[in-house]
Amino acid sequence: MRGDLVTEQTDNGFTQDQIACLMSALTKLDLTAPSGGKTPAEHVYGTPLEDLCKEEIAKYKLHPLDIWDRLEHWTARNEIATGLDQFLLRHLGFFNVEPASRGYMIRLRLPACQMRGDQMQAVAEIADTYGPGHAHVTTRGNLQVREIAPKDVLKVMDALTEAGLSCQGSGADSARNLTTSPTAGFDPVELINLAPHTRRLSNLILNKRDLRALPRKFNISFDNGGSISALSDSNDIAFQAVKVGNDAPVDPGIYCRIGLGGISGHRDLTRETGMVCTPDQTVMAGFAMLMVFVEHADRTNRKRARLKYLLDAKGLEWFIEATQAKLAEIDAGFQLTALNPTHDLPRPPVDRHAHIGVHPQSDARCEYAGIALEMGRLSCDQMRSLGRIAMVHGRNDIRLTVWQNVLIPHLKAGQIDQVKQDLHAVGLGTSATAFAAGAVACTGKTACKLGLAHTKEDGTALVRHLENRFTLDTPINIHLTGCPNSCAQHYIGDIGLVGATTTEGETGYHVVVGGGSDHDKGIGRALCGPVPHTQLNDVIAQVVGSYLDRREGQETFL
Ligand code: SF4
Repeated sequence: MRGDLVTEQTDNGFTQDQIACLMSALTKLDLTAPSGGKTPAEHVYGTPLEDLCKEEIAKYKLHPLDIWDRLEHWTARNEIATGLDQFLLRHLGFFNVEPASRGYMIRLRLPACQMRGDQMQAVAEIADTYGPGHAHVTTRGNLQVREIAPKDVLKVMDALTEAGLSCQGSGADSARNLTTSPTAGFDPVELINLAPHTRRLSNLILNKRDLRALPRKFNISFDNGGSISALSDSNDIAFQAVKVGNDAPVDPGIYCRIGLGGISGHRDLTRETGMVCTPDQTVMAGFAMLMVFVEHADRTNRKRARLKYLLDAKGLEWFIEATQAKLAEIDAGFQLTALNPTHDLPRPPVDRHAHIGVHPQSDARCEYAGIALEMGRLSCDQMRSLGRIAMVHGRNDIRLTVWQNVLIPHLKAGQIDQVKQDLHAVGLGTSATAFAAGAVACTGKTACKLGLAHTKEDGTALVRHLENRFTLDTPINIHLTGCPNSCAQHYIGDIGLVGATTTEGETGYHVVVGGGSDHDKGIGRALCGPVPHTQLNDVIAQVVGSYLDRREGQETFL
């Protein structure tokens, strides 16, 4: 049956015969839902099996945690997995991207967007030995390496394990890389370092069977309330550190405000819930909310299986009540607290590009270096050099950002010149134009089979074009996504570009403008398109020129 299940499309992607066959197989296997056997096999969290979409049937036929032996099977044959195996292996971090790019793309999992220098060097060795000689920083502060041959997959896994790295749960219906403000722990104005809480929730998710086969992908962020944000507005759950003053009906101090349902690709940002918890409660609060999602999200229609649609259908108030009930059920020992945001003390200004350059840290003895990458691309030599700088001049600590850039913290002030020289030797630096610092691009057509445009290449050319024409005194973010799936979150860029095909059949982009995040929160509005990619540079130069001519003061695109 494996591999035959995705050929014919009915409402749930299966013929009645296939559904009957699956029902029979499930019954014989005595397959139970991952709630520990409370749900009869014919239902998955209340959804009858015959109503499930095909991906849900696949996951309950074989849980993604039980697919590892299939990896041995495909590796031994040096073949890309097919059918259900291909879908399920994405939960372990392996993505078939053929024909756009050969072999697998492997995406790591770096909770809190943090890794060690020696781990960066280990990834360089993997990309050199088994991959294309480079890796990419993703828009969730993660790393991915392409062009891994099927025969090398298990060797790559061995190398990752040896380095203390993993790619578990980085794709498909997983809670994706949990993000934190990249300056967590050394931002002079942060309210609290939430990286430990991020790692703890990530560990819980990886080790909880219910959470390894979610109804759909899920994004969670932890923002430290400092000057560099975690770009929370596009996350399903956003914990935002806030300081509460003496006039509040709770003890003054630091709390985490909870935002829900952000999904910028569906033109929706996180909703203010009016609820907070303490930083130490975020792990179990996150777990409870994930379980409500697991038990109630739509499992019949993939397009409506995100948290936003559960909130739309049942309401924010219902979700909060269900979360409170879940917290009681799991004996968490606390409830979420209602607290109007008017009690939050003002946050320091968020500067989207302030992490680029050399900056003082909270301990005053050290500085951190923010390095802008070209659309997140890192060669192996660059990775080795970054790892060495972090080990020799820092504390073996590297941060990746959702802006696809890199920070090296804990550099002693007297060593900055040497660090700059070492960076320069591999084509990196601590200065960048506003265009380069704020440009992000998804994988695009070069290595994603859904891509309609070569985002990274077009983005690089666009940045060069704009740098030659304008000098900006304000941050500007240009987000390029290769298709409407919005992996680079085009709707929250000052300028968002979405890959498309023109009526003449050319590669092009739809242009949206005026999106933003944090203090400048907003969803971009359609401007024009699709613009043929050959005209993209001139059209965007006109947009930027027009903005600069007409803005008042430091007015943004919003
Ligand atoms: Fe691929 Fe589309 Fe996501 Fe870009 S936005 S990585 S093209 S799925």
